[in-house]
Amino acid sequence: MKEEIYEKYKTAGEIAKKAREYGKKLIKQGVLVLDVVNKVEEKILEEGASLAFPVNVSINEVAAHFTPKHNDNFVFKKGDLVKLDVGAHVDGFIADTAVTVEIATSRYEKLIEATNEALRNAIGFIKSGIDVSQIGEIIGNTIEKHGFASIENLTGHSLEQFCLHAGISIPNFYDDALKGVKLERGMAVAIEPFATDGVGYVIAGKNGNIYRCLNPRRFFLRDPVAKREINFLKNEFKSLPFAERWYHKMLSKRSGLDSNYMLERLARQGYIKQYNQLVEKKTGKVAQTEHTIIVHDDEAEIIT
Ligand code: MN
Ligand code: MN
Repeated sequence: MKEEIYEKYKTAGEIAKKAREYGKKLIKQGVLVLDVVNKVEEKILEEGASLAFPVNVSINEVAAHFTPKHNDNFVFKKGDLVKLDVGAHVDGFIADTAVTVEIATSRYEKLIEATNEALRNAIGFIKSGIDVSQIGEIIGNTIEKHGFASIENLTGHSLEQFCLHAGISIPNFYDDALKGVKLERGMAVAIEPFATDGVGYVIAGKNGNIYRCLNPRRFFLRDPVAKREINFLKNEFKSLPFAERWYHKMLSKRSGLDSNYMLERLARQGYIKQYNQLVEKKTGKVAQTEHTIIVHDDEAEIIT
């Protein structure tokens, strides 16, 4: 990894960490969820990084891929188990990090600790040349030792410039099929154990209000409005995920179109992907902890 790129990752990592810790303190009973995501995103921008994806606040059995809509007015409740997942980038070099907060109760401390320990154990083991199947084994075993299930269809991932989920997936259990896939020096990787008291599998739920531009083979020329909007979105967000909230703000400045209607229209024509919330299959409660690391010859360096 070139020194210049390494420095960009380090800066993105420091800012993502600050934003995560700031957001963690804001999550309290009775606080508007929308206020928290707005404030954490503002923090990332103020610190001089860009948003790698919308701040996610996935609650209870929702494991991932949720951010509020522009007009959502629900609040955090006592007993909520909140996954705050934050991403910052500098020139496309992304730091991705998450923490789980339990609001005003302590029923899920062990579940949270299982993911924390799994992440520590995994990162402590990583260095150049390590097989991703072994990382998955460590994560899965640690979570199981605590009496919980790791979520088998959510994974960590390698990161590349403007690419949140690059070529390599890091499983949260021992997966024989990934034997031989190795982490090498200079790779940036997000490791993210998920633990649950459910069965350890997520299914698609309702719209998570998160989208991403795709690369369709050709534009549907008979819909010039869609063409205009997809060009706008691609220019603005490239291939990184964006929020309905962000698009709503931009769209309302220059058109009377409804953001949700327009996003549906673009998704139907195959220009954008819409992300659904990922919900634990047996509605088990879910905890997640995530760090971004840089792989070195003899160790992994946590940048978040
Ligand atoms: Mn994340
Ligand atoms: Mn991630």
